[in-house]
Amino acid sequence: MDFKLSEQEQKIWERAQEFTREYITPKAHELEKRNEFPKDVVQKAYEAGLMNLHVPKEAGGPGLSLLAETLVSEATGYGCAGMATSIMCNNLAFAPLLIGATIEQLKTYVEPLITGKEVKFGAFCLTERGAGSDVSGMTTRAIRDGDEYIINGTKCWITNGPVASLFTVFASTQPELKHKGISVFMVPKTKGVKIGHIENKVGQRNSVQSEVIFEDVRVPKDCLVGKEGDGFKIAMMTLDKTRAGIAAIATGVAQRAVDEAARFASIRHQFGKPVGRFQGISFMLADMGARASAARLLTRYAAWRADQGMPVSKDSAFAKAFASDAAMQNAIDAVQIFGGYGYIQEYPVEKLMRDAKLLQIYEGTNQIQRMVAGRAILKESVNLDTGFHVKYDGRDAPLI
Ligand SMILES: Cc1cc2nc3c(=O)[nH]c(=O)nc-3n(C[C@H](O)[C@H](O)[C@H](O)COP(=O)(O)OP(=O)(O)OC[C@H]3O[C@@H](n4cnc5c(N)ncnc54)[C@H](O)[C@@H]3O)c2cc1C
Repeated sequence: MDFKLSEQEQKIWERAQEFTREYITPKAHELEKRNEFPKDVVQKAYEAGLMNLHVPKEAGGPGLSLLAETLVSEATGYGCAGMATSIMCNNLAFAPLLIGATIEQLKTYVEPLITGKEVKFGAFCLTERGAGSDVSGMTTRAIRDGDEYIINGTKCWITNGPVASLFTVFASTQPELKHKGISVFMVPKTKGVKIGHIENKVGQRNSVQSEVIFEDVRVPKDCLVGKEGDGFKIAMMTLDKTRAGIAAIATGVAQRAVDEAARFASIRHQFGKPVGRFQGISFMLADMGARASAARLLTRYAAWRADQGMPVSKDSAFAKAFASDAAMQNAIDAVQIFGGYGYIQEYPVEKLMRDAKLLQIYEGTNQIQRMVAGRAILKESVNLDTGFHVKYDGRDAPLI
């Protein structure tokens, strides 16, 4: 087994770490106080070649691996989870198109967004106020009208919504079929696309989320991705792949918590010695370090499997749930190790705690990840139709 990155991936990893040191870590705290979208930093990330990595060469992208994308997310997440979310959001917006669109569609709708001088954004529009984990309840509708579709509905919590020029929109074309009636469309910023309420969040304040309202939006019929009714399948395939990206940001946060806590524990003296010398603190640091390392391994393994074209639902769910839980726990432990200073905004760890919480919620909550992983595990060991173990001691064996 070889844990080494390829030469190309190693270069991306080092470039992303250098970028984080230079442009993200020093600015993250100050920028988040303004609760603004960090356009300048994202522009620089684009110029440094850290965005849109997975878009194939035929559509103007560099055609790099999913693993390469997760390396960028881990490095930037170490500096600031909010900025990492802003930088990686195109990966989420474009993933359904890379899965379901033709090369001609990608050339028309995606290539112009990723080849100009100025950074451009896509936004992934799935969630609605009444349809979160259960997207089959969505009310956004797309109705065919000659050579066009007319889209009506409101999406919420859409990352990069206010700055996006292309919206990947999930809408029902046959509501009576529930999730099987969902289709996915590429919708350029056009007449009838409006930005609604902008969210004021607890953490990740260096990213922006809003409602996106579609009012009688007309798009040509070639904006449909795949066939009518493919939307749910494409959404699930997308999330299977992109969850490794969230796990990577979480790994960055988990590692940052270890490093900040270790530094503080080495210089803060109580009872005549650094607090890190107390077993109670050093055991916490050991558990935090193990969590960050395990999160990294699960994340890179999930991305590697996706790159090999192997099934990845279970592994990306493991990675997302474990890494984001690790980030949350490590951030809480870092605050504890900092003592009172941990609870003060001038120190770096309270932000980690606020930022980490979102990682357990978006792109499918950790309950949903456990549902996905639990189902996959049952499917692997049990034939659910007959209720029999598929293989036990070489034979089928009944469940007790
Ligand atoms: C900052 C932010 C950014 C986001 N960005 C985007 C974006 O770019 N695009 C987009 O489309 N969406 C986005 N979302 C939406 C996000 O993916 C949803 O919030 C998430 O999927 C959960 O949906 P919900 O909030 O409606 O919770 P609900 O589905 O209402 O869940 C409420 C609670 O019930 C639990 N629950 C639900 N079903 C089950 C079950 N079957 N078993 C056990 N527990 C269950 C959940 O885990 C949760 O704890 C974003 C959200 C936030 C907060």
